[in-house]
Parts: sequence; C-alpha cells; structure tokens
Amino acid sequence: MKTLCSTFALIGALAGPAQAEFSFEATDADTQAYVENNLLGIFYHEFGHALIDVLDLPIYGQEEDAADVLSVFLMSDFFEEEFAVQLAYDTAFGFLGEAEQVEEVAFWDVHGPDLQRYYNLVCIFYGANPEERSDVAEDLGLPEERADYCPDEYEQAAHAWGGALDEIAHAGGGQSLKMAALSEEGDAARLSFDVITTEVDALNAEFRLHDEITVRVEACGEANAFYDPAPREIIICTEFADLLTEMAP
Ligand SMILES: [Zn+2]
Repeated sequence: MKTLCSTFALIGALAGPAQAEFSFEATDADTQAYVENNLLGIFYHEFGHALIDVLDLPIYGQEEDAADVLSVFLMSDFFEEEFAVQLAYDTAFGFLGEAEQVEEVAFWDVHGPDLQRYYNLVCIFYGANPEERSDVAEDLGLPEERADYCPDEYEQAAHAWGGALDEIAHAGGGQSLKMAALSEEGDAARLSFDVITTEVDALNAEFRLHDEITVRVEACGEANAFYDPAPREIIICTEFADLLTEMAP
C-alpha cells in the first residue's frame, strides 16, 4: 500500500498553470527558509511513517496524526531554540497556507483538517517548553482552553516517540537512510535534494535501524510526499518546493 501523505495534490491542481516555479534568483531569504523548513517538516512526517513500518510500532488512532506528532517532536527537541521556533512558525504557516487554499474541508480524509493539524503542531511545540514558548503560542493564536492541556500532550508525544527513538539511537549512528542519486534538473530539485541530504546525514549520525530506508527526491507529477513500505522508500516530490514557493507568506 502506498501511503499518501498530503492533500497538496488537490491544491496543485487547483492552482492551475500559473504556478510559480522555484528559482534562487527570484526568491528572497525568508521564502527560501520557508520552503526549506517545510520540506524538513514533511520529511520528518514521512520518517514517522517509515519508523512505524520498520519498528512495527502499534498506532492507536490515525497513523497520519502519529506521523505529524513525530515531526513536531523532532523539530521541538532536536534543534537549538531559535531555529526550532523558526521551524514551528514556518511549518505552522504551511498548514495555514494549505487550509486557505482548500475550498471544502474533506472530513473523510485520513489527515485531520489542516487547521486542526496547525493547532496540534502549535500545541505540542508549546507544550514542550511552556515557559519559553508562551509568546509563540500567543502569537500563533493557541487558545488558553487548549494550551492548558499542551504540556500533557507533549508528555504523551515524548513518551510515545521518545521510546521509539531511544530504541534506534546509537552512539556513532549508522547508514540506515540511503539517499538515492538525484536524476532531476532544476532549482526545485536541487534545493529539495540538498535539504533532504543534509537531514539524512543528521539522522544517520543519531540513529541506526535494523533495515535500510531509501530516500528519493524525484518528480512525481504532483506536489506530494510518500512513504512506500514495500521497497521501504521515502519519496519527496520535487513539485513540493515549487508549491511551497507559491504558498510562502
Ligand atoms: Zn502521511
């Protein structure tokens, strides 16, 4: 079964032929950071699907939610505070951008509605460090009714994913994630490849799995990302960088 991981495919179709293409020249630093940070968040989400498969983790609820939680957990706990906050803002805006482009919320979808994914992200990120991140929570509009529960939600996330990550953490790491060679041309492909390669190296430095996972950056014909359990492959579509460039706030 191929795991479909975003609702971006629909948006790409709606955006039509006027879609901007990623270009280093035409893109300012904030936009480039937004694109890179969202690629990172998306890659972590797919890494979550991969870990659920390889470690045979039990999931109580939607796997998509569990993958989102891992993504926030890694962003929150694996980076210096200043960069972690920037990641949280950019990826939260990614969900907002998606929400703004969806005309009708698909409640049947395996993913929660984008606005709910937005608040889940903000909540867990805030809950990880409420003392230092209350400004972020306020700025991103997390209501107090939810904020009260966020430290507990973060604890649950840390309990669930922290255990899995402890299991694969090894001094010296390993080479479990294999980056497939890039066969695409163009700025979007190169940017995506560079961002993901850097992250693959960083994860390999920390973790070792008992199975290998191949990571591909390639054109898919849609702005999307997947984890495919049969060949154990994470696929990041090069079209994603173009779409993110267009959605950048
Ligand atoms: Zn997914």
